[in-house]
Amino acid sequence: MTPVKPTILVTGGAGYIGSHAVLALINAGYEVIVLDNLVYGHRDLVEKVLKVELIIGDICDRPLLDKLFASRSIAAVMHFSAYAYVGESVTDPAKYYRNNVIGTITLLEAMIAASIKQFVFSSTCATYGVPHTVPITEEHSQNPINPYGATKLMVERILQDFDIAYGLKSVCFRYFNAAGADPTGLLGEDHNPETHLLPLVLMAALGKRDSVSVFGSDYPTPDGTCIRDYIHVTDLADAHILGLKYLLKGGNTNIFNLGNGQGFSVKEAIDTARAVTGREIKVVMSDRRPGDPPMLVGSSDKARNILGWEPKYPALKEILTHAWHWHQQRHTH
Ligand code: UDP
Repeated sequence: MTPVKPTILVTGGAGYIGSHAVLALINAGYEVIVLDNLVYGHRDLVEKVLKVELIIGDICDRPLLDKLFASRSIAAVMHFSAYAYVGESVTDPAKYYRNNVIGTITLLEAMIAASIKQFVFSSTCATYGVPHTVPITEEHSQNPINPYGATKLMVERILQDFDIAYGLKSVCFRYFNAAGADPTGLLGEDHNPETHLLPLVLMAALGKRDSVSVFGSDYPTPDGTCIRDYIHVTDLADAHILGLKYLLKGGNTNIFNLGNGQGFSVKEAIDTARAVTGREIKVVMSDRRPGDPPMLVGSSDKARNILGWEPKYPALKEILTHAWHWHQQRHTH
Protein backbone atom coordinates (compact mmCIF):
# COMPACT_ATOMS: atom_id res chain seq x y z
CA MET A 1 0.00 0.00 0.00
CA THR A 2 1.31 3.46 -0.85
CA PRO A 3 1.44 5.72 2.21
CA VAL A 4 -1.25 8.42 2.34
CA LYS A 5 0.19 11.82 1.49
CA PRO A 6 -0.48 14.46 4.17
CA THR A 7 -3.07 17.02 3.12
CA ILE A 8 -2.08 20.66 3.48
CA LEU A 9 -4.59 23.51 3.46
CA VAL A 10 -3.19 26.53 1.63
CA THR A 11 -5.09 29.75 2.28
CA GLY A 12 -4.48 32.27 -0.46
CA GLY A 13 -3.27 29.54 -2.80
CA ALA A 14 -4.75 31.41 -5.78
CA GLY A 15 -2.38 34.33 -5.21
CA TYR A 16 1.18 35.00 -6.27
CA ILE A 17 3.30 33.43 -3.53
CA GLY A 18 0.58 30.97 -2.48
CA SER A 19 0.30 29.48 -5.99
CA HIS A 20 4.05 28.94 -6.17
CA ALA A 21 3.89 27.22 -2.77
CA VAL A 22 1.07 24.97 -4.03
CA LEU A 23 3.25 23.96 -6.97
CA ALA A 24 6.15 23.19 -4.62
CA LEU A 25 3.83 21.14 -2.37
CA ILE A 26 2.55 19.12 -5.34
CA ASN A 27 6.13 18.51 -6.50
CA ALA A 28 7.07 17.40 -2.98
CA GLY A 29 4.21 14.86 -2.96
CA TYR A 30 1.60 16.52 -0.73
CA GLU A 31 -2.15 16.65 -1.26
CA VAL A 32 -3.32 20.26 -1.40
CA ILE A 33 -6.61 22.01 -0.73
CA VAL A 34 -6.73 25.73 -1.54
CA LEU A 35 -9.00 28.11 0.35
CA ASP A 36 -9.26 31.49 -1.35
CA ASN A 37 -11.93 34.20 -1.44
CA LEU A 38 -10.77 35.16 -4.96
CA VAL A 39 -10.74 38.89 -4.11
CA TYR A 40 -7.23 39.01 -5.57
CA GLY A 41 -6.65 35.34 -6.42
CA HIS A 42 -7.13 33.62 -9.78
CA ARG A 43 -9.59 30.74 -10.01
CA ASP A 44 -8.17 29.27 -13.23
CA LEU A 45 -4.71 29.14 -11.75
CA VAL A 46 -5.86 26.68 -9.08
CA GLU A 47 -8.40 24.70 -11.08
CA LYS A 48 -6.82 24.62 -14.53
CA VAL A 49 -3.08 25.18 -14.08
CA LEU A 50 -2.35 23.62 -10.69
CA LYS A 51 -5.39 21.30 -10.87
CA VAL A 52 -6.03 21.11 -7.14
CA GLU A 53 -9.23 21.42 -5.14
CA LEU A 54 -10.37 25.00 -4.62
CA ILE A 55 -12.73 26.04 -1.85
CA ILE A 56 -13.99 29.54 -2.48
CA GLY A 57 -14.41 31.18 0.89
CA ASP A 58 -13.05 33.56 3.44
CA ILE A 59 -10.76 33.00 6.42
CA CYS A 60 -13.18 35.16 8.45
CA ASP A 61 -15.96 32.58 7.86
CA ARG A 62 -15.74 30.39 10.97
CA PRO A 63 -18.64 28.02 10.07
CA LEU A 64 -16.99 27.34 6.71
CA LEU A 65 -13.65 26.61 8.42
CA ASP A 66 -15.29 24.34 11.02
CA LYS A 67 -17.05 22.38 8.28
CA LEU A 68 -13.85 22.07 6.26
CA PHE A 69 -11.73 20.90 9.20
CA ALA A 70 -14.42 18.42 10.33
CA SER A 71 -14.81 16.86 6.91
CA ARG A 72 -11.16 16.60 5.83
CA SER A 73 -8.05 15.25 7.46
CA ILE A 74 -5.71 18.24 7.29
CA ALA A 75 -2.17 17.86 8.65
CA ALA A 76 -1.09 21.50 8.56
CA VAL A 77 -2.06 24.93 7.26
CA MET A 78 0.02 27.29 5.13
CA HIS A 79 -1.44 30.75 5.45
CA PHE A 80 -0.92 33.19 2.58
CA SER A 81 -4.30 34.97 2.63
CA ALA A 82 -3.59 38.59 3.44
CA TYR A 83 -3.89 42.03 2.00
CA ALA A 84 -0.37 43.12 1.20
CA TYR A 85 -0.36 46.56 -0.42
CA VAL A 86 1.76 48.79 1.81
CA GLY A 87 0.34 52.02 0.35
CA GLU A 88 -3.28 50.88 0.67
CA SER A 89 -2.67 49.78 4.25
CA VAL A 90 -1.82 53.41 5.06
CA THR A 91 -5.02 54.77 3.46
CA ASP A 92 -7.38 51.93 4.51
CA PRO A 93 -5.94 50.34 7.68
CA ALA A 94 -9.31 48.97 8.84
CA LYS A 95 -9.36 46.58 5.88
CA TYR A 96 -5.89 45.33 6.85
CA TYR A 97 -6.53 44.83 10.56
CA ARG A 98 -9.85 43.09 9.85
CA ASN A 99 -8.55 40.64 7.29
CA ASN A 100 -4.95 40.11 8.32
CA VAL A 101 -5.46 40.03 12.09
CA ILE A 102 -9.09 39.11 12.78
CA GLY A 103 -9.16 36.71 9.82
CA THR A 104 -6.01 34.97 11.02
CA ILE A 105 -7.33 34.64 14.59
CA THR A 106 -10.52 33.11 13.19
CA LEU A 107 -8.48 30.61 11.20
CA LEU A 108 -6.24 29.77 14.18
CA GLU A 109 -9.19 29.27 16.52
CA ALA A 110 -10.85 26.92 14.04
CA MET A 111 -7.58 25.00 13.71
CA ILE A 112 -7.21 24.64 17.47
CA ALA A 113 -10.84 23.49 17.80
CA ALA A 114 -10.06 20.81 15.19
CA SER A 115 -6.72 19.89 16.86
CA ILE A 116 -4.65 21.00 13.85
CA LYS A 117 -1.47 22.27 15.44
CA GLN A 118 0.98 23.06 12.63
CA PHE A 119 0.99 26.43 10.90
CA VAL A 120 3.28 28.09 8.35
CA PHE A 121 2.82 31.84 8.24
CA SER A 122 3.78 34.50 5.68
CA SER A 123 5.25 37.38 7.62
CA THR A 124 7.33 40.19 6.23
CA CYS A 125 10.43 42.32 6.57
CA ALA A 126 7.95 45.22 6.88
CA THR A 127 7.67 44.20 10.56
CA TYR A 128 11.18 45.64 11.14
CA GLY A 129 10.36 49.23 10.17
CA VAL A 130 13.42 51.36 9.50
CA PRO A 131 16.38 49.11 10.33
CA HIS A 132 19.31 50.38 12.39
CA THR A 133 21.64 47.66 11.07
CA VAL A 134 21.78 45.72 7.80
CA PRO A 135 21.67 42.93 6.91
CA ILE A 136 18.71 42.53 9.24
CA THR A 137 18.71 39.42 11.43
CA GLU A 138 15.67 37.93 13.15
CA GLU A 139 16.77 39.50 16.46
CA HIS A 140 16.53 43.02 15.06
CA SER A 141 13.91 45.18 16.82
CA GLN A 142 10.49 45.34 15.17
CA ASN A 143 8.85 48.76 14.79
CA PRO A 144 6.70 48.64 11.64
CA ILE A 145 6.09 52.02 9.98
CA ASN A 146 2.97 50.99 8.06
CA PRO A 147 -0.26 49.21 9.04
CA TYR A 148 0.53 46.23 6.79
CA GLY A 149 3.71 45.50 8.77
CA ALA A 150 1.83 46.10 12.03
CA THR A 151 -0.79 43.46 11.15
CA LYS A 152 1.89 40.88 10.44
CA LEU A 153 3.75 41.69 13.65
CA MET A 154 0.52 41.26 15.63
CA VAL A 155 0.04 37.80 14.16
CA GLU A 156 3.65 36.90 15.01
CA ARG A 157 2.92 37.81 18.63
CA ILE A 158 -0.39 35.92 18.58
CA LEU A 159 1.46 32.83 17.34
CA GLN A 160 3.94 32.99 20.23
CA ASP A 161 1.05 33.26 22.71
CA PHE A 162 -0.98 30.50 21.01
CA ASP A 163 1.98 28.14 21.25
CA ILE A 164 2.26 28.69 25.00
CA ALA A 165 -1.50 28.48 25.60
CA TYR A 166 -2.67 25.92 23.03
CA GLY A 167 0.47 24.14 21.80
CA LEU A 168 0.10 25.53 18.25
CA LYS A 169 3.49 25.17 16.52
CA SER A 170 4.32 27.66 13.80
CA VAL A 171 7.02 28.72 11.42
CA CYS A 172 6.94 32.41 10.45
CA PHE A 173 8.78 33.46 7.34
CA ARG A 174 9.69 37.12 7.11
CA TYR A 175 9.93 37.63 3.36
CA PHE A 176 12.00 40.34 1.83
CA ASN A 177 10.79 41.35 -1.67
CA ALA A 178 9.20 38.39 -3.42
CA ALA A 179 9.89 38.55 -7.16
CA GLY A 180 10.30 36.45 -10.30
CA ALA A 181 8.19 33.61 -11.64
CA ASP A 182 8.16 29.84 -11.80
CA PRO A 183 11.17 28.96 -14.03
CA THR A 184 9.11 26.44 -16.04
CA GLY A 185 6.73 29.24 -17.05
CA LEU A 186 3.61 27.78 -15.41
CA LEU A 187 3.02 30.57 -12.89
CA GLY A 188 3.96 34.19 -12.37
CA GLU A 189 3.02 37.48 -10.80
CA ASP A 190 -0.43 38.77 -11.76
CA HIS A 191 -1.73 41.36 -9.32
CA ASN A 192 -4.67 43.59 -10.05
CA PRO A 193 -3.99 46.38 -9.37
CA GLU A 194 -0.25 45.94 -9.85
CA THR A 195 1.76 48.17 -7.53
CA HIS A 196 5.07 46.29 -7.26
CA LEU A 197 8.18 47.71 -8.81
CA LEU A 198 9.51 44.83 -10.90
CA PRO A 199 6.26 43.83 -12.68
CA LEU A 200 5.55 47.50 -13.39
CA VAL A 201 9.03 47.89 -14.88
CA LEU A 202 8.51 44.82 -17.08
CA MET A 203 5.10 46.07 -18.19
CA ALA A 204 6.78 49.33 -19.22
CA ALA A 205 9.40 47.29 -21.12
CA LEU A 206 6.54 45.51 -22.92
CA GLY A 207 4.90 48.82 -23.83
CA LYS A 208 1.87 48.08 -21.63
CA ARG A 209 2.67 51.19 -19.59
CA ASP A 210 4.25 54.45 -20.71
CA SER A 211 6.72 54.74 -17.85
CA VAL A 212 7.64 53.73 -14.32
CA SER A 213 7.53 56.15 -11.40
CA VAL A 214 10.44 56.15 -9.00
CA PHE A 215 8.98 56.88 -5.57
CA GLY A 216 11.53 59.16 -3.95
CA SER A 217 15.11 60.03 -4.89
CA ASP A 218 16.09 61.80 -1.66
CA TYR A 219 16.47 58.75 0.58
CA PRO A 220 19.73 58.35 2.57
CA THR A 221 21.06 55.74 0.10
CA PRO A 222 23.94 56.06 -2.43
CA ASP A 223 21.68 57.00 -5.39
CA GLY A 224 18.83 58.39 -3.29
CA THR A 225 16.32 55.62 -4.17
CA CYS A 226 15.06 52.86 -1.87
CA ILE A 227 17.07 49.66 -1.54
CA ARG A 228 15.36 46.27 -1.43
CA ASP A 229 16.43 42.62 -1.23
CA TYR A 230 14.65 40.73 -4.03
CA ILE A 231 14.08 37.01 -3.46
CA HIS A 232 12.88 34.53 -6.08
CA VAL A 233 9.33 33.34 -5.41
CA THR A 234 10.36 29.72 -6.13
CA ASP A 235 13.05 30.00 -3.44
CA LEU A 236 10.38 31.28 -1.05
CA ALA A 237 8.14 28.35 -1.97
CA ASP A 238 10.98 25.88 -1.35
CA ALA A 239 11.54 27.36 2.11
CA HIS A 240 7.88 26.68 2.90
CA ILE A 241 8.34 23.00 2.15
CA LEU A 242 11.35 22.90 4.46
CA GLY A 243 9.42 24.79 7.17
CA LEU A 244 6.51 22.38 6.83
CA LYS A 245 8.77 19.33 7.08
CA TYR A 246 10.45 20.87 10.13
CA LEU A 247 7.05 21.24 11.86
CA LEU A 248 5.77 17.80 10.83
CA LYS A 249 8.94 16.30 12.34
CA GLY A 250 8.04 17.96 15.67
CA GLY A 251 9.99 21.22 15.31
CA ASN A 252 9.34 24.09 17.71
CA THR A 253 7.81 27.44 16.86
CA ASN A 254 10.41 29.46 14.97
CA ILE A 255 10.92 32.55 12.82
CA PHE A 256 13.12 32.88 9.75
CA ASN A 257 14.06 35.70 7.38
CA LEU A 258 13.98 34.84 3.70
CA GLY A 259 16.09 37.11 1.51
CA ASN A 260 19.26 37.03 -0.56
CA GLY A 261 21.26 39.40 1.63
CA GLN A 262 21.94 41.71 -1.30
CA GLY A 263 20.28 45.08 -1.81
CA PHE A 264 19.39 46.80 -5.09
CA SER A 265 18.19 50.38 -5.36
CA VAL A 266 15.11 51.18 -7.42
CA LYS A 267 17.41 52.69 -10.07
CA GLU A 268 19.65 49.61 -10.10
CA ALA A 269 16.63 47.32 -10.42
CA ILE A 270 15.38 49.33 -13.42
CA ASP A 271 18.86 49.24 -15.02
CA THR A 272 18.99 45.46 -14.53
CA ALA A 273 15.56 45.17 -16.18
CA ARG A 274 16.84 47.24 -19.12
CA ALA A 275 19.77 44.81 -19.50
CA VAL A 276 17.55 41.71 -19.24
CA THR A 277 14.85 42.91 -21.63
CA GLY A 278 16.99 44.94 -24.02
CA ARG A 279 14.12 47.45 -24.05
CA GLU A 280 13.86 51.12 -23.27
CA ILE A 281 12.14 51.78 -19.94
CA LYS A 282 11.03 55.35 -19.35
CA VAL A 283 11.34 56.61 -15.80
CA VAL A 284 9.48 59.46 -14.10
CA MET A 285 10.80 60.77 -10.78
CA SER A 286 8.00 61.06 -8.21
CA ASP A 287 7.44 61.81 -4.54
CA ARG A 288 8.10 59.27 -1.82
CA ARG A 289 5.37 56.69 -1.18
CA PRO A 290 4.19 56.78 2.46
CA GLY A 291 5.29 53.80 4.54
CA ASP A 292 8.49 52.92 2.64
CA PRO A 293 11.67 52.37 4.69
CA PRO A 294 14.84 53.49 2.83
CA MET A 295 16.61 50.13 2.97
CA LEU A 296 15.59 46.53 3.65
CA VAL A 297 18.20 43.81 3.27
CA GLY A 298 18.00 40.57 5.20
CA SER A 299 20.30 37.95 6.61
CA SER A 300 18.91 34.45 6.04
CA ASP A 301 21.68 32.57 7.83
CA LYS A 302 19.18 31.14 10.31
CA ALA A 303 17.04 29.55 7.56
CA ARG A 304 20.18 28.13 5.96
CA ASN A 305 21.50 26.72 9.23
CA ILE A 306 18.31 25.32 10.72
CA LEU A 307 16.21 24.45 7.67
CA GLY A 308 19.06 23.81 5.19
CA TRP A 309 17.51 26.39 2.83
CA GLU A 310 19.65 27.49 -0.10
CA PRO A 311 18.23 29.91 -2.70
CA LYS A 312 18.54 28.42 -6.21
CA TYR A 313 18.09 31.72 -8.04
CA PRO A 314 19.82 34.44 -6.02
CA ALA A 315 20.82 36.70 -8.96
CA LEU A 316 18.49 39.62 -9.69
CA LYS A 317 19.22 39.12 -13.40
CA GLU A 318 17.82 35.59 -13.25
CA ILE A 319 14.85 36.64 -11.13
CA LEU A 320 14.03 39.29 -13.74
CA THR A 321 14.64 36.87 -16.63
CA HIS A 322 12.04 34.42 -15.29
CA ALA A 323 9.59 37.26 -14.63
CA TRP A 324 10.24 38.67 -18.12
CA HIS A 325 9.43 35.33 -19.77
CA TRP A 326 6.21 35.13 -17.79
CA HIS A 327 5.13 38.67 -18.68
CA GLN A 328 5.93 38.21 -22.35
CA GLN A 329 3.93 34.99 -22.50
CA ARG A 330 1.02 36.44 -20.56
CA HIS A 331 0.69 39.56 -22.64
CA THR A 332 0.99 37.85 -26.00
CA HIS A 333 -1.86 35.43 -25.20
N1 UDP B 1 8.56 51.58 -6.13
C1 UDP B 1 8.74 52.60 -7.06
N2 UDP B 1 7.83 52.72 -8.05
C2 UDP B 1 6.74 51.90 -8.18
C3 UDP B 1 6.57 50.86 -7.24
C4 UDP B 1 7.51 50.73 -6.23
O1 UDP B 1 9.68 53.38 -6.99
O2 UDP B 1 5.94 52.08 -9.11
C5 UDP B 1 9.54 51.43 -5.06
C6 UDP B 1 8.94 51.42 -3.66
O3 UDP B 1 8.86 52.73 -3.18
C7 UDP B 1 9.92 50.55 -2.90
C8 UDP B 1 10.45 49.57 -3.97
O4 UDP B 1 10.14 50.16 -5.23
O5 UDP B 1 11.00 51.32 -2.45
C9 UDP B 1 9.79 48.21 -3.89
O6 UDP B 1 8.40 48.41 -3.85
P1 UDP B 1 7.36 47.24 -4.04
O7 UDP B 1 5.99 47.85 -4.03
O8 UDP B 1 7.75 46.45 -5.24
O9 UDP B 1 7.59 46.29 -2.78
P2 UDP B 1 7.54 46.63 -1.19
O10 UDP B 1 8.95 47.01 -0.82
O11 UDP B 1 6.55 47.71 -0.97
O12 UDP B 1 7.12 45.33 -0.58
